[in-house]
Amino acid sequence: VVAVDVGGTSIKGAVVDAGGTILWARSWPTPAAAGPDRVIDAIREAVRDLAGACDAVAAVGVVVPGAVDSDAGVASYSANLGWRDVPLRDVLAEDTGVPCVLDHDIRAGGVAEHTIGKTAGVDDSLTLIIGTGIAGLITSNGRFVRGAGSIAGEAGHLPVWPDGEPCPCGQRGCLERYASAAAISRRYAARTGTVATSADVVGRLDSDPAAAQVWQEAVSALGIALASCTMLLDPGVIVLSGGLSAAGAALLDPVRAELAARVVWRPTPTVELSDLGARAGLLGAAILAWQRAGATDFRSWVPEATA
Ligand SMILES: [Zn+2]
Repeated sequence: VVAVDVGGTSIKGAVVDAGGTILWARSWPTPAAAGPDRVIDAIREAVRDLAGACDAVAAVGVVVPGAVDSDAGVASYSANLGWRDVPLRDVLAEDTGVPCVLDHDIRAGGVAEHTIGKTAGVDDSLTLIIGTGIAGLITSNGRFVRGAGSIAGEAGHLPVWPDGEPCPCGQRGCLERYASAAAISRRYAARTGTVATSADVVGRLDSDPAAAQVWQEAVSALGIALASCTMLLDPGVIVLSGGLSAAGAALLDPVRAELAARVVWRPTPTVELSDLGARAGLLGAAILAWQRAGATDFRSWVPEATA
């Protein structure tokens, strides 16, 4: 299958065989500044390029940010990419002549986590994807929780501090304002006047008190949010995924401690780091495409082989 993960800065593509092996991978810059039509052209060109690298294509899976109507195959809205109501699935199906699926990038990452990652086989789980923003994927009784308006899992906008920082969403004190990669970078710059990525901040934890303080505020916000999620959902496992999970033990250990300190009267759920890394969305796109082509067994798709 051809799998494509469209992000705000790059379009990642891969050809993935039925055993989960990435046969060919490439990425292209997303021409977001050139407008939505140019982005759609770039996606079509990427799919064409990737399909041209295979002898035969079983299906195409494309995942995009923003709001997606996956049943209708329509990319409904993306603030970053500027599009509205693009019938991308049918456009790509016409281009390639094979079945296509279109889905949301976060949901695709959750599908990958739940099919071949740390929540595979766990009926009740929470995957927190921490990158520029924060999103959650919930499974309950083995099924993804979509919600009445298909917007369940907006963990980034869980209020953690009632009188906290204003959030562009209109609320105050949202988790995303403290614990996203963007927030960590922004809050460190506000305190020190130094521009640094969240990875830079993690690299300075032992030597820079401002970095340690911003990080501590991020992990305690995560602990508060995960305690609420634990009480509400009773997850068997919580998985931390997305770009910030690259921090490894510097993230996992204090988040485990913060959660354990707040969940007093009941067992603390297991908290793990995803091993799918930045490829979760792309692997999810490949899984969705193979499912569209009729595949049901993904046991050979071990993350180690695809990392
Ligand atoms: Zn918010």
